[in-house]
Amino acid sequence: MHKVKYNSMELQFSLKLKSPMLIKSGGISANPSLPDMQFVRTYINGLGETIYIPGSSLKGVFRTYTERVLKSLIYNEICDIVVKENSCTQKLEDIEKKNETLSSYEIYKDSCRICKLFGNGKLKSRISFFDSYPNGDIKTEIRYGVAISRLTQSVAAGPFDMEVAVNGTFESNIRIENFECWQIGIISLALNGLNNGLITIGFGKNRGFGEVEVNVEKVIFSFAKTLPKKEIWGIGKFISIDGLKKYGISKNDLINLEIEPNKEFEEIFYIKREYTSENWQKISNSVLILLRDDLK
Ligand SMILES: [Zn+2]
Repeated sequence: MHKVKYNSMELQFSLKLKSPMLIKSGGISANPSLPDMQFVRTYINGLGETIYIPGSSLKGVFRTYTERVLKSLIYNEICDIVVKENSCTQKLEDIEKKNETLSSYEIYKDSCRICKLFGNGKLKSRISFFDSYPNGDIKTEIRYGVAISRLTQSVAAGPFDMEVAVNGTFESNIRIENFECWQIGIISLALNGLNNGLITIGFGKNRGFGEVEVNVEKVIFSFAKTLPKKEIWGIGKFISIDGLKKYGISKNDLINLEIEPNKEFEEIFYIKREYTSENWQKISNSVLILLRDDLK
């Protein structure tokens, strides 16, 4: 939607393994000396070849989990991305078939809350998930597994061997641009879900795989103009009355905090504000309350 950047938030956090994790690389290896299921790998400068958590894996679990939570509260207002005919993408395509093309603000306005944040076939995601790389050594092991058929109670597949990460920490980073304040609440909801074990990453949820502990290290907000020190402004506070109507965004789009930023930098076009881990907890509580009230 907006071509101008009014605000953004960058969240830096670590994911510490609490249980084995496996994010499968594509296909089964033809090389008999390698495990059947290998952890996905990439090559990065400084680290060489390393296992990592792709940003898309994290985005997928964030979306699935928050979609489920929102559906439990406002079922009819959240689309179904699995059943295409119930998805926002399909709804938007149907409108386009009848009328002329939809403008970017109509697409935003007519998308559900989950699509507004994570995007759909017609709408670009406003949140970016970067790949997470190891911070220090990640210990990996080979585990053996079989799949049991529920029907016959006998081995349906396997035995196969899997490479799992068992110990260590990954560094993660997500960024959101031109956000409405309730969208920060969605991110906070997902981070809590990860910490509580309600979200697992990768393969083997039934085996207890993929549980992590999240530690937010730093949050950096950026705003296109100076605003009161104890406030965080969503996009609704920046755009015109006309824009608010077109995009269906609330004018009262702000978070009132009891705290001030830990650091503030002025750049030519932006004010940057940094908050520590401890202050993120306070921001997180405020945005969750805001999200809850917004969904009523
Ligand atoms: Zn949707």
